[in-house]
Amino acid sequence: MLVITGPSGVGKGTLIQALRRHFPGLELSVSATTRPPRPSERDGREYHFLDPAEFERRASAGEFVEHAEYAGNRYGTLRSEVERAPDGLVLEIEVKGARQVRDALRDAVQVFIAPPSPEVLRERLLRRGTDQSDQIARRLAQAEEELRAKDEFEHVIENNDLERASAELVDLVATIWPTLKRGERT
Ligand code: 5GP
Repeated sequence: MLVITGPSGVGKGTLIQALRRHFPGLELSVSATTRPPRPSERDGREYHFLDPAEFERRASAGEFVEHAEYAGNRYGTLRSEVERAPDGLVLEIEVKGARQVRDALRDAVQVFIAPPSPEVLRERLLRRGTDQSDQIARRLAQAEEELRAKDEFEHVIENNDLERASAELVDLVATIWPTLKRGERT
């Protein structure tokens, strides 16, 4: 299992998309969240969108490998997702969840994606246009804390240049999973 973590807006999703073009066999875990869907998002595709009561029910029933609160919403990785793809799974999660995975699944490889600077991260979050201003403020506050966690992680990739960061991630995955099939489009 590969865990991609780092602050919101750092480019985790874009890097994972590029990685999966290289390694089409790599499955992406679909997380559960209580956050309302964005206009482009579909239930079961980007997330399993749950109401807070259902999320809590599943958490109490032990259905999550990890779960955390982030900027006022809850997010978690369902055990059923991890079991669905035993051969190669990518998790895109925030730092508190990554810590739980680190403790629970010691084989998981963890990569922290870092922005070149806090200012660049701020600009990206503002430019992305996916969040309301109160959400952006909460995410920025949380990002400060997440940036301090960088040194806890085994691998750190700085996303200064997307092509370069993507190549670094592909090389890392090729090293840890030498048997993983590469795709046509590299
Ligand atoms: P967003 O609301 O932008 O989709 O996600 C907010 C943050 O939650 C991002 O840092 C994202 O990586 C993280 N996240 C998404 N799914 C999960 C999950 O299953 N568990 C945890 N701990 N964080 C998640």
